[in-house]
Amino acid sequence: MLRIDRLDAIGRLQQAESNIKFLTHRVEELSLLDSVTGLPNHRHFADRLSQALVLAQRHGHIVSVLFLDLDRFKRVNDLVGHTGGDEVLKQVGCRLQGALRQGDTMASMGGGRFIILLQEIKDVLDAAKVGQKLLGAVNAPLHLSSRELFLTASLGVCVHPQDGLDAQELESHAESAMYRAKERGGDRIECYTTTLNEVSLERQEMEGCLREALKNGELQMYYQPQFRMDGRLTGAEALLRWNHPLLGAVPPTKFIPMAEESRLILPIGEWALREACGQMAKWNTMSPHPLQIAVNVSVLQFANGDWDTCVARTLLETGLDPTCLELELTESMVMRQGHEDLVPLHRLREIGAKIAIDDFGTGYSSLSYLQRLPITTLKLDQSFTSMLQNEDPKTSSENIVRAIIQLAHSLHLSVVAEGVETEGQRDMLELLGCDCLQGFLLGRPLPADAFEAMLEFVSTKAFLKRATETQEAVRVPRSTPNGRARGSQ
Ligand code: C2E
Ligand code: MG
Ligand code: MG
Repeated sequence: MLRIDRLDAIGRLQQAESNIKFLTHRVEELSLLDSVTGLPNHRHFADRLSQALVLAQRHGHIVSVLFLDLDRFKRVNDLVGHTGGDEVLKQVGCRLQGALRQGDTMASMGGGRFIILLQEIKDVLDAAKVGQKLLGAVNAPLHLSSRELFLTASLGVCVHPQDGLDAQELESHAESAMYRAKERGGDRIECYTTTLNEVSLERQEMEGCLREALKNGELQMYYQPQFRMDGRLTGAEALLRWNHPLLGAVPPTKFIPMAEESRLILPIGEWALREACGQMAKWNTMSPHPLQIAVNVSVLQFANGDWDTCVARTLLETGLDPTCLELELTESMVMRQGHEDLVPLHRLREIGAKIAIDDFGTGYSSLSYLQRLPITTLKLDQSFTSMLQNEDPKTSSENIVRAIIQLAHSLHLSVVAEGVETEGQRDMLELLGCDCLQGFLLGRPLPADAFEAMLEFVSTKAFLKRATETQEAVRVPRSTPNGRARGSQ
């Protein structure tokens, strides 16, 4: 009996020992793998790269490091949720691996970032060709449940020995080149050059500064007036400005994409909305007629689940009448959304807020989709305004603008022309039936105090005009066509 127990205990011990061995091996294996994609992780990659560099130095080979980052992957995550995002990463990882040769190593760095080691290549062009194949693999439509996603990526390439001697240097230079690709609009490859390093440093520094900007009150809203064709002020578009103490004025076209990449656009956008609504609520107490404020919305805000609640709350807290708020979204932002993603827009329309499509005509619009969107306004992109008076009919935008205005009116939408700079453009827009104008000809974006001064001036002028009309009407009431005094209508 005792002997059987002992044998049993020995058997169990042996089993436990083998389990421990198996688990230790598995833990080691897992510590080298990325948990989402099952691909090698960065630790694994760094080991492989160091080994490859030793061999390359011994035999005089060229080695290349590629850094690939999915463009706007955070947005994909916002759209399909984290589980969906993980599935996207798995599928992309598989495709990328399929585009590589057996001897190449690819690792996932998490968050839509992949790093690739190419051995035995001839030169940087050879590496760029592989990069092109990888981008092609990312570009093919990806199916996730009922959705079809179109992804792009930015890719940076560097080669050993020209661009770096050790593993860390090569990785960091490939990453710098990737950032250059992103800054140039994404969906492209950039090869490393020494100057890239400085650009990347500047970018990182700028991102840190932007983080501080909101706290330090360096951000400011400017207001550009909008007018009806008869010259009456209808409101303003709120435009963000960043005044950095050392860099000076940083243009929004530079810092907004950066704010989007780092998701800082969420607190910044919320601040901008509150600032603009609060300001317009105050101005509406001074204006003889209600004015509206147009606020730009970033795709990240739009994709954020509780966006419409946040807008409604801001309206309530600032006291702005919802009908005095117009939210500007871009064409591509709304066209890519599924039916259910448009629910926040419908909710905002229900409370009376207006929705405009900004820079209309530059993106890809499905006309039938346009009809179903809960929108109120089309903002004609300034490129069309600037080409209105081109002599050559091939480059003149006159016919396109006419068609856009007719289309908008048939869908009961109003049209605001952006970037009106000359009297000629204004006259032409009037002839074509445009509803409202915005541009340097009528007024540049102004800080709040300057806009307020302009508003006081416009209100006083309107008041005086009305007063004069009333007086005239009182003096000669029979001169009005219907026999009633105009001022009392
Ligand atoms: P946008 O919304 O299309 O704004 C119009 C841009 O055209 C503004 O540039 C304005 O200053 C400029 N503009 C107005 N009239 C004229 C004109 O007659 N001629 C020319 N050449 N330009 C004119 P800005 O302020 O540099 O803003 C650029 C873009 O940055 C905006 O384009 C918008 O997409 C984005 N942006 C600005 N403020 C915000 C914001 O608060 N949130 C978000 N998400 N984006 C913003
Ligand atoms: Mg706009
Ligand atoms: Mg615009």
